[in-house]
Amino acid sequence: MSSTKATPHRKITIAAVVEQAERAIQMVNDVRSRMLAPQSKKQAPVFSMTQVAALCGIDKGQFSYRLTKEDLPGGQLNSTGSRREFSLESARKWIQSYRAESLRPKGKRAVTISVGNFKGGVSKTTTAMTLAQGLNLRGHRVLVIDTDPQGSLTTLFGVLPDTDVSEDQTIAALASGDETSIKPAIQSTYWDGLDLVAAAPVLFSAEFMLPARQMRDPSFQFWDVLNLGLESVRDEYDVIIIDTPPSLSYLTINAFMASDGLIVPLPPNALDFASSAQFWSLFSDLAANLVESAGLTKTFDFIHVLLSRVDASDAASSVVRTWIAATYAEKLLPVEIPKTSVTSSSSAEFGTVYDISKYDGNIKTYKRARDAYDRVADLVEQSIQSSWAGQD
Ligand code: ADP
Ligand code: MG
Repeated sequence: MSSTKATPHRKITIAAVVEQAERAIQMVNDVRSRMLAPQSKKQAPVFSMTQVAALCGIDKGQFSYRLTKEDLPGGQLNSTGSRREFSLESARKWIQSYRAESLRPKGKRAVTISVGNFKGGVSKTTTAMTLAQGLNLRGHRVLVIDTDPQGSLTTLFGVLPDTDVSEDQTIAALASGDETSIKPAIQSTYWDGLDLVAAAPVLFSAEFMLPARQMRDPSFQFWDVLNLGLESVRDEYDVIIIDTPPSLSYLTINAFMASDGLIVPLPPNALDFASSAQFWSLFSDLAANLVESAGLTKTFDFIHVLLSRVDASDAASSVVRTWIAATYAEKLLPVEIPKTSVTSSSSAEFGTVYDISKYDGNIKTYKRARDAYDRVADLVEQSIQSSWAGQD
């Protein structure tokens, strides 16, 4: 019997890994610059008259008539003069004027929603971003907070966690105790009415700082830091959306404890279903302990499970969907997000359906995805309105 002799590996040093890391970050930067060219910043979409009218809930005739009154932004003719275009900012003025009844009533505070699931890749970040954009396009002023040190949500804003984000633009200062308000960490973004608290790898330090503070001061409530930090901005926003890391981290607990509502994206496959069962038991054990030990009660106004990345061609998924429906009953949102190729083209990869002004591919494919995300925004908006109604 002949044996092939394996050659020993050359050892890979840490210095080589460091060099590798630098190359990877450089590559991400290069790709981003190419994608965003000729501008170096991400651009918000522009809207046609038909699109703005639809967002206002009126027909084109009503829109044209209102246009003649000249009390709302008139938009601009495009370069060929054939079409009227509206910037996001102008479109939002129209929307806010027509949807005044649906917006946050005077004296009410922002409704805070965490998107969570301890599993990665289930669509948490995509859900957080599309929900923020969808609610913003319904007239709401939205703050999004990225609590995942990997900063995927931050990246969707065209902001790179490794190079564009400083520690004071994240919730790190809240975790360390240097700040008690989230306000100094807020930045405006390419999207009018959508502000960001970014994330960066430096946030990993929160996982040490929070327990360390608790050790020093037993009365310190490590899980209440974000909640307290948000107090000063709850009058300034309509909705606050928090994206969380794929783990039961100190930051995830902070996000959930600061929230009025939870959204749990869940793709209909057996492994994701099984891990969602762990999610609920881990979280409820922990929350029960924390809350009881502090003699407090924590309630949520709503918890929604959202079927995400649903692959219609996958036969097994329909079986898992019946398990999900039986388990989560009324918590399951009556909509599913299809697995879609809309954002898979390289030009759209660092964006969502809402970033696309004009889709190059099959319009049906786009509409199917867009309709599903719109439906989620509508359903969540109803939950938000119920929360406002319940605020004292
Ligand atoms: P998480 O935050 O839970 O890790 P992401 O939102 O980052 O999940 O999504 C993981 C990957 O799946 C990303 O590459 C994202 O673009 C892709 N993705 C998310 N939703 C869909 C969808 N509906 N169809 C196709 N791909 C999707
Ligand atoms: Mg994510």
